Amino acid sequence: MSTSSDVLIIGAGIVGSSAAYFLARSGLSTTLVDRVHPAGGPTGKSSALLHAFYLMPELSRLALRGREILVGLPEIANGNSFVTQVGMMWVCGEDSSAAWTGAAERIRGQGGQIETLSPQEFTSAVPAFSDDRVALALWEPEFGYADAFGATNALANGARNEGATLLQNTSVKSLAVRNGKVTGVVLEDGTTLNAGNIIMAAGPWTRALLATAGLQLPLHVERHPMAVLDAGGKARSIMPFAWCDDINCNYARPDNDGVILAGSWAGGGTGLRHETAERPRSVTDPDHYMEGVEEAESVEILKTFTTRVPAMLDLGIRPGYAGLYDMSPDDLPIIGKMPGIEGLYISAGSSGHGFKTGPAVGEALAELLIRADESLLKPFSPERFGGAA
Ligand SMILES: Cc1cc2nc3c(=O)[nH]c(=O)nc-3n(C[C@H](O)[C@H](O)[C@H](O)COP(=O)(O)OP(=O)(O)OC[C@H]3O[C@@H](n4cnc5c(N)ncnc54)[C@H](O)[C@@H]3O)c2cc1C
Repeated sequence: MSTSSDVLIIGAGIVGSSAAYFLARSGLSTTLVDRVHPAGGPTGKSSALLHAFYLMPELSRLALRGREILVGLPEIANGNSFVTQVGMMWVCGEDSSAAWTGAAERIRGQGGQIETLSPQEFTSAVPAFSDDRVALALWEPEFGYADAFGATNALANGARNEGATLLQNTSVKSLAVRNGKVTGVVLEDGTTLNAGNIIMAAGPWTRALLATAGLQLPLHVERHPMAVLDAGGKARSIMPFAWCDDINCNYARPDNDGVILAGSWAGGGTGLRHETAERPRSVTDPDHYMEGVEEAESVEILKTFTTRVPAMLDLGIRPGYAGLYDMSPDDLPIIGKMPGIEGLYISAGSSGHGFKTGPAVGEALAELLIRADESLLKPFSPERFGGAA
């Protein structure tokens, strides 16, 4: 087998699938390759909370555009919708409230709906939640969560309908480079696929792939456990929205009415980083890590809700699952042209918060490649780490 495309994308997570859709729609011959299938990696395990709240304006902008793309998916997916608009509620303590209030004002100026609530307003909105140590709450009514698997497959299928080639169960072994320019990739079975441009959106596998071309970025991988709580049909009455508590370092959301998904939160790229929160374990080999979650781990997560949402403690604990975060040193994604090799573009280091921005990152990568328009992505350039080894 030998194919040749204008652009070859390694990885059909949310970013790669979105990039493939926008590139194919622009008429470029596009090949999307995944070692398993669309959303077969971390994207498929994502809690997919959606919000525009970030302290960094560019991330808010990507999240707002990401939401627009996700909400528009029914147009390319036979009317199927992948967003559950239950709203997103945040709480923070005194130390963060000035910065969060400023960010909320800025996000309103960017076109997002976001309200600031005093502790009293928070308590009257959700009487079952305690306002212990809450100085400020933020409410984003147009957000909530997405079906990460469904949305990603809708984009990958959309790309195919626009003429892209989707190669599933196809693993890239190495980048092919000649005279400082990418020429394609070599697959595990030895086949070469030629392409003038490569977008590498390979998540936790990025480091190993970059090494095949003598490149490196300071990425590492963390295991992120999720507790799955049995709510017996009452999930939305106990946890009515997507939730993030900056004081107790946890987050949660209902999954329809049956279960509540809950995890620990360490800042998530909002511009904060809680070193005191339990950091997930580092993973050296993304192909071998503990995907199951021990009951004790779920209990630890559940305990962080004790004061704020006491009703959560009555829920049963179902088997949890763990996914992988591909982390950058500053919790910000690394996106853009890879210095050192012409024609190589990268999206990596999404640091546990890259689903909501993913559709917009894919679109922006397509714009970067087609029109050399890097305005949206400039702050995330790999150049901040010196780029090539
Ligand atoms: C448990 C969990 C909860 C999360 N919750 C949220 C959340 O609430 N909100 C949010 O915004 N984000 C969240 N995230 C983060 C978010 O899911 C990720 O940042 C995002 O999905 C990353 O997407 P991606 O397209 O960059 O890459 P990935 O999803 O990592 O996809 C990479 C793809 O590349 C493929 N690949 C790798 N190597 C090769 C190769 N050699 N050849 C071919 N294919 C290859 C893989 O199979 C995979 O499909 C969560 C993540 C996890 C794990």
